[in-house]
Order: sequence, then C-alpha cells, then structure tokens
Amino acid sequence: MFNTIYKKRIAWMVCVTFITLCFGAGAALAQGPVVMRHVAMATEIEILMFGAPDAESEVLREAAREAFVAMDALEARISRFRQDSFTTLMNREAAERPVTVPSDIMELLLAARRYSERTGGAFDVTIGPIMKLWGFYVGSGNHPSPDELREATARVGIEHVAFEPASRTVIFKRPGMHIDFGGIAKGLALDRAAAILRDHGVESARLNVGTSTIVAVGAPPGKSGWTVDIRSPYNNGEDAYIATVDIRNESLSTSSRTERYIEIDGQRYGHIVDPRTGMPTTGILSATAITPNGLESDVLSTAFYVMGLEATRDYCKSYPEVRAILVVETENAPETIFINMNQDSRSKE
Ligand code: ADP
Ligand code: MG
Repeated sequence: MFNTIYKKRIAWMVCVTFITLCFGAGAALAQGPVVMRHVAMATEIEILMFGAPDAESEVLREAAREAFVAMDALEARISRFRQDSFTTLMNREAAERPVTVPSDIMELLLAARRYSERTGGAFDVTIGPIMKLWGFYVGSGNHPSPDELREATARVGIEHVAFEPASRTVIFKRPGMHIDFGGIAKGLALDRAAAILRDHGVESARLNVGTSTIVAVGAPPGKSGWTVDIRSPYNNGEDAYIATVDIRNESLSTSSRTERYIEIDGQRYGHIVDPRTGMPTTGILSATAITPNGLESDVLSTAFYVMGLEATRDYCKSYPEVRAILVVETENAPETIFINMNQDSRSKE
C-alpha cells in the first residue's frame, strides 16, 4: 500500500529558525521591523525589514508588495505546474522543435548547466523523468525496476539539451525530457525580491521562503549580520540546534529528506534524487549551503545533499566563498560537519 505524505512543517524537520533578535542600541533609531507575508511557490514567504529612522513604514510595505508581485510573475513563467509557463512549453515541445525563451530564462538555463557541470551532475534541472518515475509529482508511487530506472536516467542530463543563446532557443536532444526548476526557483525568486527592496532603498532585510532559503540584505540595526539558527534534523526536542550563523548580504539554504517525501511499502523516500542513478538520496541527513546569493545557496544545498561529504569538501575547496554545514550519519550518532567555517565562532574562516 502506498501512502503519500506531504506534511507541512513539522517540529523535528530540518528547518531554519531565527533566534530572537536583540536589536541593541541601533534599533531605537531605526524604523521597524516591518514584516510582510505572502504565499507563493506552495509555501509562505516572509520579508522582514528595517528602514532609516525617518522612513515611512508604508514605503517598506510597498517595496515588499512589489517584491511579492515579481515573485508571483516569476513563478507563473517557470513553474512546471502552470500550463502556460515557459517550462511547460519546453517540456511539451522542445523535443520536436526549437523553443524560443526570454533572455532571463535562457540565463537561468545556462546557470543551471554551469552548476550541473561544477557539481559533477549532482544538480540537474532535467531531473523531471526521475521525479515522475518515483511518483513525486502525484505524491505516491512504486519502487521502479532497474529497467525503468535506466530508461528514466537516459532522459536526464542537461548535456542532452542544446542551447542557442543568440537566438534564445532550446532543443531537447532526447524525447521525453522534462525540466523541473524546483531546486533553483525559490532562491532565484528571493534574489529578485531582494533586488527590488534594494531599488527602493531598503538596506536591512531578511527574506525567507518556507524554512529552506533565507536571503539577507545588510544586517539588522546595530548588528553585524542576521543571526540564523539551524535546527537539528535528528533531534526532535525543542530548541535543538546544530549551528548558529550570521549572514550579511548572503544567502543560506537547507535541503533534507524529512520535509517532503513519499512512502512506499512503509519506507520514506525524500524528494531529492541523484540524477546519475535515479535513486532518492539517502547518504546524509541535511545539507546547508551559505553563499553570496539565493540562487546559488538553493542549488548548492540540493547538490551537496546529493554529493555527500567528500565531494562537498572538494567543491568548497575550489569555491572558498561557499560555506557548508552537513549532518551525516555515522555508526554511532549523526555528526555535524562545518566546511569553510570556524566551528567555534560559526563564522567564516
Ligand atoms: P525545497 O524546495 O524543499 O527547499 P530543494 O531546494 O532541495 O528543496 O529542492 C528540491 C526540489 O528540486 C525537488 O522537489 C525537485 O523538484 C528538484 N530536484 C530534486 N532532485 C534534484 C537534483 N538532483 N537536481 C536538481 N533539482 C532536483
Ligand atoms: Mg535547493
């Protein structure tokens, strides 16, 4: 019997919470915080802002409203669930004929290809056939046979997509390919929202989408960064944190399998799959990436989750601006590993 569970936020999931901020002396001089919420991408988005002392809080609210409009517009254009999105258009027609996309979507595809190459194929937006095979899109499924897995993985791989940046056309070189921006869209959406806030003169804001990605604009008044607590994925006690980090003009994302999964024969399979094997990833409990922007942290948390410890270490050696926190299963107990971070201060080395 196949039981599907898409539970919302649960207490013991890997989630990112924020410690109560004591805003200190500077806070009295600042306007806010102003908090705005909005539902998009099947989750809740929150924007928390501080303004200059003489700022009108309505100006902050208007900036957030504009940011939400931009996020909705992006979702409408790239969601694989929307019948009239460019993603649906590509998925329907790009195996038959060249499909023309707007320049920002071409850029998104090229960025996705770049990260696929950098992560040795651990991250791949053409993951759709594997997600479908396991039943993630409908919420229930079967354990696929080796033949089915082989057949689906043959249709996955951004190297099987031909791009013509000059004419902005996309061609799938294999039939049955399917693009899914689910591992990158939220980060990109928050980057766009942060840019809109900055255009409105907002210098201090924290934007988060669900509990998985946070983008920090500046810092709260009187502080050097936004303090983020990362909750333990394995300890369901209250206030069990694995790390506390400060981020400023940076982004943080966490991927895990405890939040979204399907159940097949009593076994849970998380919604992050390895494009190379077609199998849901099982190696580590959670992966957090801290990077200069939201697109990158969203991509890399998913990629590190697939790559596991050693490949993540190698990646972070080549990209020292990227920090990572992995929770790995060991024989005895889960262990938290900090990469490119000083473990005592939890800050950048
Ligand atoms: P969340 O959206 O819950 O924050 P992630 O950012 O880790 O989680 O993205 C998971 C989503 O990314 C999946 O639901 C699926 O749409 C897509 N995905 C799954 N595996 C991969 C992968 N290896 N590479 C790229 N995208 C993936
Ligand atoms: Mg992601």
